[in-house]
Amino acid sequence: MTQRKTQRIASHAVLIVIVIACSTSGPPQAHDDTTARGPSELVVQVLDVGQGDAVFIENGGSRVLIDGGPDPATLGRHLDRLGLNGDTIDVVVVTHAHVDHYNGLRELFRSDRHIAVRFFFENKDLSPNTTLATLRDSVIARADRGSLVYRDTDDPCGTGAPLCTITMRGGATLHVLRPLAEPASANDRSTPVKLVGPDSASFVMWLAGDAEREAIAAFDSLGYDEHPGMSAEVMKGDHHGSCNGATPRYLDLVHPRWVVFSLGVSNTYGHVHQQTLDLLRARGLSWYRTDQNGTVTIRTAGTQGSGFTITPDHGAPNAIGPSDRFSEQAVCAAGGGTG
Ligand SMILES: [Zn+2]
Repeated sequence: MTQRKTQRIASHAVLIVIVIACSTSGPPQAHDDTTARGPSELVVQVLDVGQGDAVFIENGGSRVLIDGGPDPATLGRHLDRLGLNGDTIDVVVVTHAHVDHYNGLRELFRSDRHIAVRFFFENKDLSPNTTLATLRDSVIARADRGSLVYRDTDDPCGTGAPLCTITMRGGATLHVLRPLAEPASANDRSTPVKLVGPDSASFVMWLAGDAEREAIAAFDSLGYDEHPGMSAEVMKGDHHGSCNGATPRYLDLVHPRWVVFSLGVSNTYGHVHQQTLDLLRARGLSWYRTDQNGTVTIRTAGTQGSGFTITPDHGAPNAIGPSDRFSEQAVCAAGGGTG
């Protein structure tokens, strides 16, 4: 595991492609995507789930859910709204084993919803949480029946490769990257995900769960900036806008035009921290936040030069919230650090 912490991704690393139109079981294989529909619209919804994360992605009929928020009932309302009952979610990624990211996902496995899940990625870290054990029992039961492929984010393709590239039917790709191996904080076990639109020049999104300073610095030292690259039009703000989840260097690497924070309107953490918003303001970056704007929807047509739109359910960009405060965390002193 220690070796993983210092391993750089070689530029010649082989990308293992899971074409999610193909078999749900067995080892990942490289395929020609015979069912690809050509470039089509990519829709990303940063769902309003309160203090937590849940991001739903659709492209050409392929569906991906990254995290599920803290509450099964809340995610359930989104599943109803999105018309997913009786349907298939191709890929689920749990960024890390914290309740505000995984717990809502238990709703996916409620038998009366009849939702199929084809690939389920998580770090499989030991946890005392009984709710996580319940979720894992559901995942393992389906894996045992052969209806779901259960992947460890430390080995996301099951081949030893440090990233797994998933091709969606409409031409978008999703890179699931190996997280930092042995950080001090469970937040720093967050799995980074890079979403690339069918037209990569129009839209890329970077999402890294609750990654904090140690993981953020590791993304840099692991060479993720070079491969697969971290530059993105839109960034999901790390760790709900904690000052611990943003640094000048990190923002320079991702260089987003927009940042979307997912958080609850009355959170006890002081999110979004004022230091984070100050970093964004200093760069002229715009943001939306689910506590003030509800679900935030990003669309790109997928055709060359089509660009993208970003639309909140309500409210204006660059809002502040009632829980926002200056964080006294030592790590956030001195202008946000350099990590
Ligand atoms: Zn979180």
